[in-house]
Amino acid sequence: MKAAGSVITRLVAALVVLGLAGLAFLLFRDMTPPVVSLTPAAGPVSQATEFSLKIEDQGSGLRHLAIAAVQNGKTTPLASLDLAGERELTKPFTLPEKTLSEGPFTLEIAATDASFSNFFQGRTAEISAQFTLDSRAPILQVESLAHNLNQGGAGLTVFSANEDLGRSGVKVGDLFFTGYRLPDGRYACFFAFPYYLPKDEFKPVLYAQDVAGNIRSRELPYHPTAKNFRQDRITISDSFLNDKMPQFEKDYPGETNLNIFLKVNREMRQRDASELGRLAAASAPEMLWDGRAFLRMKNAAPKAGFGDERDYYYNGEKIDHQTHLGVDLASLQNAPVEASNSGKVVRTGFYGIYGNSIVIDHGLGLQTLYSHLSEIGVEPGQMVQKGEVIGKTGATGMAGGDHLHFGVLVGGLPVSPIEWWDQHWIEDNVTSKLKGTPPETPAPAEPAPAPPAAGKKAPAAKKK
Ligand SMILES: [Zn+2]
Repeated sequence: MKAAGSVITRLVAALVVLGLAGLAFLLFRDMTPPVVSLTPAAGPVSQATEFSLKIEDQGSGLRHLAIAAVQNGKTTPLASLDLAGERELTKPFTLPEKTLSEGPFTLEIAATDASFSNFFQGRTAEISAQFTLDSRAPILQVESLAHNLNQGGAGLTVFSANEDLGRSGVKVGDLFFTGYRLPDGRYACFFAFPYYLPKDEFKPVLYAQDVAGNIRSRELPYHPTAKNFRQDRITISDSFLNDKMPQFEKDYPGETNLNIFLKVNREMRQRDASELGRLAAASAPEMLWDGRAFLRMKNAAPKAGFGDERDYYYNGEKIDHQTHLGVDLASLQNAPVEASNSGKVVRTGFYGIYGNSIVIDHGLGLQTLYSHLSEIGVEPGQMVQKGEVIGKTGATGMAGGDHLHFGVLVGGLPVSPIEWWDQHWIEDNVTSKLKGTPPETPAPAEPAPAPPAAGKKAPAAKKK
């Protein structure tokens, strides 16, 4: 009997110890409150702003979430949720309509975990974040009056807004041309009348989003002029294919020369065009040139124009159609190629149809392209001056003979270079609009604000 009693006593003692250990485990296994993060975390927001609340509790999981807005001393509950021990929770939400008035308010968030801490209430994390409700769309004033655009050509609009803009620009169909803030606080946007768009479909719309996300769109006053582009017939010979296609064999192994030609002329052309679009997105937010006309290659005869509609024939049969998106200029073999204006080299290398090429960024989405080069003399990141020799002409890529393919791009879209060679066009369409009257600083004597690097060493600086 005595032995049995001692066994029972030991068992009870063991159970008590186990029980206490279990209770201690439950009490102390989750010592940390949930981790809460909110985006946006602060600043101006609109009724349309999508908040995202992320809560994590890797210990006991989540029990409760409360969101409230506080404005002028008044607290409005926005959400109160009982949770089932989730370890992670993402809750998107927007501000309810007609709850808050314009101006500052605070969001208070309390997330509680399922631990037994705090007399079984759980541990609570509290955050409060400061915002300003702005539900009014920006008010825009278009300051440039005339927007006369030629089909395939470019234009500039200058506008101002009654508040800071997060994103602005001009929409043309499904294209978006980015606007940039000028040093005087106004905004400027180069945009284009795309070469492929019929005149009655060209309707440029000014678009602006404030920092809180409110959007204003309005049609720009504009005057478009349709252009008749030249029709061109290009005969593809076997000797051309034998000469040019080996450059692309590694891209299209096992294909016939003719198939390589068609793939390069279609697919690769498309791919290169989208890369030019990506380069435009990284354009400098200020003008890197001084407002003087772009240089046209010296002593060079034009061989093909911008917008030429090219039909390609092989053995008398039409095999392809493409639009020529630059001007071809031919002079001597391996003639020096000069930077048409000051800017920053943003790409060098081999582009499918264009062969060895250089892209120079002139800022505000404006860029120039130099193609079919036999030699590239600059590197990406390098600043170049107008007139500086950057390479030599050649016949790389899909070029029948030695020439320079010169392209001008606005927001990545090729536009007619002819306008940019014309000082009158630039004065009427660019510099006169940029001049304006800056509110704080005195008006500059130059036709356009010139960055120091671009202004000092004008065209004289030519390297041989
Ligand atoms: Zn060309």
